[in-house]
Amino acid sequence: MMASNISSEKSETAGHTTGETSPLLSVQGLTASYGDVQVLWGIDLAVQEGSIVSVVGSNGAGKTTLLLAISGMVAKGQGSVTFAGEDISRLPPDEIVKRRLAHVPEGRRLFKTLSVKDNLLLGAYGRTDHAEVARDLDFVFSIFPILKERSHQDATTMSGGQQQMCAIGRGIMARPRLLLIDELSLGLAPRVVEELAECLVKINAEGISILLVEQDVMTAFEIAQYAYVIESGRVRLHGQSSELMNDPVVQSAYLGM
Ligand code: ATP
Repeated sequence: MMASNISSEKSETAGHTTGETSPLLSVQGLTASYGDVQVLWGIDLAVQEGSIVSVVGSNGAGKTTLLLAISGMVAKGQGSVTFAGEDISRLPPDEIVKRRLAHVPEGRRLFKTLSVKDNLLLGAYGRTDHAEVARDLDFVFSIFPILKERSHQDATTMSGGQQQMCAIGRGIMARPRLLLIDELSLGLAPRVVEELAECLVKINAEGISILLVEQDVMTAFEIAQYAYVIESGRVRLHGQSSELMNDPVVQSAYLGM
């Protein structure tokens, strides 16, 4: 690995490499706080259209807060978030999702007593293109056939992995250009995580870009082309996943080597 390929310098963060087209998502100098407690301290991050980008870091580093701030569910402080060329920094969550940026929250957050199908359709709330909604539902069922089999079952009675599929499916029903996914692997067996990771690659192959927050660093690096390491609300390192995997700091701090 060439040291110069991995950067902790802000100026190189926004576009991954110089000369690339404008990223689909560009986060610049983003700060966020809970009351008086500042959690994000000027995050710079970019997602190129069509890519999978991972954000890794230890507990409490600010990964969830970063996703919540991007999707408007936590107030942004300073800095900006640009999506598909538009400044969405001050838009509320419903306006952000309308622009096709969807969020799969940590812990799935499925609605109890609602069927799998109704949970999925909640992701299409507000859409009036009914034929396309039906097509998207078929797409979700093609990626996750078990959800079709269980479409009438209370979603919260399924296994953790199936619930995660349903939560991802609900995100897809918003027809996103970019899907934010918070902790794909939370509470799931490695075999299930592997299956879900393969599904993310298929979803990505259909043109949906993905920004994945993940504690399972190896999984995160395996499926993402590019990754960010966040520590205490700041980007500590970023680079091609294949290069970060070989970085001594990452290996000792996150890969237990
Ligand atoms: P984890 O993997 O444990 O979820 P994380 O990297 O996603 O960690 P965040 O959940 O973003 O980190 O939390 C960052 C910091 O913000 C932590 O110190 C956490 O205690 C604090 N925090 C998170 N949510 C709130 C909240 N609603 N009110 C106050 N502080 C919060």
